[in-house]
Amino acid sequence: MLTDSRLYSVVFNKCPRCHEGDFFVAKSAFSKNFDKMHEHCPHCGENFMPEPGFYWASMFVSYAFYTIYTLTTFFIFVQWLNVDVDYYLVGLIPTLVLLTPYFFRMARRTWLTLFIAPKPEHKAGIPHQV
Ligand SMILES: [Zn+2]
Repeated sequence: MLTDSRLYSVVFNKCPRCHEGDFFVAKSAFSKNFDKMHEHCPHCGENFMPEPGFYWASMFVSYAFYTIYTLTTFFIFVQWLNVDVDYYLVGLIPTLVLLTPYFFRMARRTWLTLFIAPKPEHKAGIPHQV
């Protein structure tokens, strides 16, 4: 089931450990405080800041997302739909700028999820903490 996988916390802004508490304070990537994170999971208390500078490496994850997005849209629009490369580039740049907060948040969640194994409550027996 998707709720038992690491992908769940990356896609749905949830704690990589319990899949219950929110990772970022704001629900949307397109809100004013899109970059504000909880320091600990509001549900299970998992530390979201393992060490200073931990999220520097998430830049490379973000770079991978940009590359995948660019290659995918290139093959769809230029190779498959025969859109002129100049028109493609004119459309690509604004979408990359608009997707920056979304990729920023996805990259941070992905980076932390690589180091924390999921243990949903119903399997790990973690008592509910408020
Ligand atoms: Zn949690």
